[in-house]
Amino acid sequence: MTDCVFCKIAEGQIPASTVYEDEDCVAFMDIGQVNPGHVLVAAKRHAQDLYALDDAQAAAVARGVARVARAIRAAFAPEGLSVYQANGAAAGQTVFHYHVHLVPRFANDGMRFTWPVQNPPREVLEEHAARIRAALGL
Ligand code: 5GP
Ligand code: ZN
Repeated sequence: MTDCVFCKIAEGQIPASTVYEDEDCVAFMDIGQVNPGHVLVAAKRHAQDLYALDDAQAAAVARGVARVARAIRAAFAPEGLSVYQANGAAAGQTVFHYHVHLVPRFANDGMRFTWPVQNPPREVLEEHAARIRAALGL
């Protein structure tokens, strides 16, 4: 789907700070960082949302999520990690291509996310991505 931002990232047509990639999914730094180390894991093949995934694709994305989660823990040593996704505009979704948010959580965070998010410069995203890639052995 050529007008989809995450398809373009998966195809390398627009830049992203990628931390992990396999046959089925790609993981990259969210440009809007709820907390430092916030990563999105997206299905490579366009699927609008959770409902559109077949079982194999769902399992493959979950594997990518687990691998990247362990690497975020190693790289940032957060007290916790929030893993979430949204379906539909009414649930706050803004990009309609299936993806999961991995958000490191720290001691003073409380239950809710703090808004607005940070939009760090590309160098910071790249530096954080490099720490996660190193934890993955990439
Ligand atoms: P949603 O609200 O759909 O679950 O999340 C979409 C996320 O994608 C948002 O957190 C937003 O910051 C992120 N995002 C939107 N456009 C881009 C982009 O071009 N590059 C990256 N890395 N993230 C994006
Ligand atoms: Zn797409």
